[in-house]
Amino acid sequence: MITQKWLIPATEGLGFKLDKDQVVRITDVEGEQVADFIAYRADESGERLDPSVTIDALRSLNIKPGDTIYSQTYKPLLTVVSDTVGKHDLINSSCRSEMYEALYNKQNHASCYHNLNTALAAFGIAAPDQHYALNLFMNTVISPTGSTSVERPLSKPGDYIEFRAEEDLIVAISACPCSESACNGYSCGPIEIEII
Ligand SMILES: [Zn+2]
Repeated sequence: MITQKWLIPATEGLGFKLDKDQVVRITDVEGEQVADFIAYRADESGERLDPSVTIDALRSLNIKPGDTIYSQTYKPLLTVVSDTVGKHDLINSSCRSEMYEALYNKQNHASCYHNLNTALAAFGIAAPDQHYALNLFMNTVISPTGSTSVERPLSKPGDYIEFRAEEDLIVAISACPCSESACNGYSCGPIEIEII
């Protein structure tokens, strides 16, 4: 049963409450669209989702159904319920306007950093100095030498990933506004959110 549903327009963001044991489904509506996903505990402890800790605890650079997503103090915050894509990024920080200036010579570009800050502000959560998100559907390829390249996402229209909350959470998601690279297949699309 779907209890809440939103469509995040291309290049925008959304924040919402996700109660313990609720499941959120994040759908790539048109395909090849990255969604930056962050979560904070709703108890104002400052505890938040941490991709680096999750990599350490899982001993994996990727996530799959059954995996736990951890906070910076190694507490379970979410569990992956299902995933129709199987390729996500846990290593790249969220895009921000300074990145577009430094790497693409573009000024005042929309960014996941700004989208996530705006979404969190509605819940009274102060902006951190950077966001380290689960970059859902992002296809970062790591070579044996350690060099990385961001390729087109493997997600097709309607592909999704689902997480169950293990604590009461505030979640924020950004439909990544980068159209300059293969990250979002060179054009930005919407992301659908359902709480089920
Ligand atoms: Zn982004």
